[in-house]
Amino acid sequence: MKLLVVEDERPTAAFLYRGLTEEGFAVDVAADASAADAAVATAEYDAVILDVMLPGGSGFELCRNWRTQGLAAPILFLTARDEISDRVKGLNLGGDDYLVKPFAFDELLARVRALLRRGPMVAIGSELRVGALVLDLHRRVAALAGQPIVLSQREFQLLEYLARHAGRVVSRTALWEHVWESDAVPDSNVVDVYVRYLRNKLGRAHPLIQTVRGAGYLLDPTPQTDVSPEART
Ligand code: CA
Repeated sequence: MKLLVVEDERPTAAFLYRGLTEEGFAVDVAADASAADAAVATAEYDAVILDVMLPGGSGFELCRNWRTQGLAAPILFLTARDEISDRVKGLNLGGDDYLVKPFAFDELLARVRALLRRGPMVAIGSELRVGALVLDLHRRVAALAGQPIVLSQREFQLLEYLARHAGRVVSRTALWEHVWESDAVPDSNVVDVYVRYLRNKLGRAHPLIQTVRGAGYLLDPTPQTDVSPEART
């Protein structure tokens, strides 16, 4: 899942970037209002963490404009001002939540995850289940039919995105935009390469990740009964 962090204070931005990356998110950082505008115009974010006081404009203005333009991603405001009126203002302008600085990273993380859970997906607590596949979003580990599967962070991110859209076709472009950082060097093969890695680890005979010719990939949500390691050999 890809996040945009809009924050002009470098230490805070670096702290958020490091912490959220370690938690398995693809993270872009914008340090002022125009950079944030440009980022939202060109990339697809699953959530935005938006500081209120920014060079070149306020987070409130940005939020209002983005909502007018149709941005649907949840927005979490960061504000140094602990005034009720500001909080209400932010939410009225289309924000989904707010956090007052200084904040604990764990609280920010919990709120971001809660915002992402409001999306079209099935998650129970920290677990995302698709048939026999279980993703533990907190521990960043996967299991298929009870068997742990060792995945790299990128593989996990890719599988998580497919799982959150299980049963629907996801284009290579969408996977690229939501799983890789915006400054990653575009490579038309990289998504296919990582899907191949995933399939190898999930078991090649198992049609969990289907290729939909000309459209992309689909994670089959149908409960699988023959995915035990024994059945795969
Ligand atoms: Ca600021």
